[in-house]
Amino acid sequence: MSHPYLAQKFVDNDERMHWHDETLWFVRKKRDIAIKKVPEWEELRNLASAIKTHTMSNLDKYLIQFEKNAKARGIEVHWAKDAQEHNDIVTKLLKDAKVKKIVKSKSMLSEECELNHHLEDEGFEVVDTDLGERIVQFRHEKPSHIVLPAIHLKRQDVAKTFAKFIFTDENNFDPTYLANAMREHLREKFLSADATVTGVNFAIADTGGIVICTNEGNADLGASLPKLHIACMGIEKIIPRLQDLSVFTRMLARNAVGQAVTTYTSHYHGPVEGGKMHIVIVDNKRSKFLASKDYYQSLNCIRCAACMNTCPVFRRSGGHSYEYVIPGPIGIALASVRDLKKYSSLPFACSLCASCASVCPVKIDLDKQIYKHRSEVVERGLMKKKKLLILKMAAFVLKSTFLTDFGGKIARKIVPILPRALVYSKLNAWGKARELPKFPKHSFKEIYEKRMK
Ligand code: SF4
Repeated sequence: MSHPYLAQKFVDNDERMHWHDETLWFVRKKRDIAIKKVPEWEELRNLASAIKTHTMSNLDKYLIQFEKNAKARGIEVHWAKDAQEHNDIVTKLLKDAKVKKIVKSKSMLSEECELNHHLEDEGFEVVDTDLGERIVQFRHEKPSHIVLPAIHLKRQDVAKTFAKFIFTDENNFDPTYLANAMREHLREKFLSADATVTGVNFAIADTGGIVICTNEGNADLGASLPKLHIACMGIEKIIPRLQDLSVFTRMLARNAVGQAVTTYTSHYHGPVEGGKMHIVIVDNKRSKFLASKDYYQSLNCIRCAACMNTCPVFRRSGGHSYEYVIPGPIGIALASVRDLKKYSSLPFACSLCASCASVCPVKIDLDKQIYKHRSEVVERGLMKKKKLLILKMAAFVLKSTFLTDFGGKIARKIVPILPRALVYSKLNAWGKARELPKFPKHSFKEIYEKRMK
């Protein structure tokens, strides 16, 4: 299914489309207020971008350094070349420890590798413990946003879901009531879990420790109660030194939701007493980015989601319209490198306004990458024939001054007198959500020429 088709499904619910747009714009505005309180914000961006670019250029060195230091702290380190290997390693570790119940904290890597499905097929009980993630898990949906996984749902939808799975009152959609009910439900899951699986926000090469940022403290409970902690990370999560960390933690929550800092920024430097800790380091095509001179910057992403919150297309079409596990501008950049044929509609889910690049804390040139992917779709013959034909016809007309002037003249004369049903027919996809402006009597060129006489 292509982005236009899935986006259409989302915008069919006009009310939802508008509050989704407004809610994310509210988050974007909160971000703007928060960053204004940091006068050195642009310096931080430059520094963050430089640290990440340096790290990615020396990734082999830093990964080996991280492994050595993590092992010295009693952490077992595993390497996975792809999603299957990642899932197999995690499954084996859980089976070896005779685990039955797992609590998970939010990890886009586990979504990428479809770890939940894999573990459930193997007979484990897997409970996502981030509030938004648990909601979408109940509903058998994917997260629609990387920081706000259930942003596509209203309180009323959540109340109905909770009523079905944790037996709350479906007519009570008070957020405190719902949050308390979820807290009670999850507390029991934490206490009975045999193991926890977490993601990693930052892995520090010179200490061998990892850092996990959450607002709910769910990763902390998960990593402290059960005796087995498996942390899964992509190779790009490495930063060189502990002193580099604050550059990113100062930006992450501010840029994501306008918060000064993530509520829980927790460091893990080894297993809990009497327990075990494993870190699984995953490639899964990330080295393909490293090898690309045009797209390597995408690996610098710290998953703050600001590019989604600001994107006019994302705000109006929702995260589920992107097909790929990570939506929005960074999702387009990542999915297109992974499989341009499969995701050929995504580079067009963009207005090329570059708002994404202007908010990105690590200065990824998202708009330029998306434009390049778009060109590649055409060069490789992946664009739909009908669309290509229309664009070729448009290019033919626009290249000729005579045809452009003539076309404009005809349109100004004929379109205003055509019946509305004809102008806004099925053939006019743009007309579904847009009114044509009132046609002026003369073109800009005609007015200009007249004035210059
Ligand atoms: S691309 Fe930049 S703005 Fe988008 S999620 Fe990554 S770090 Fe944040």
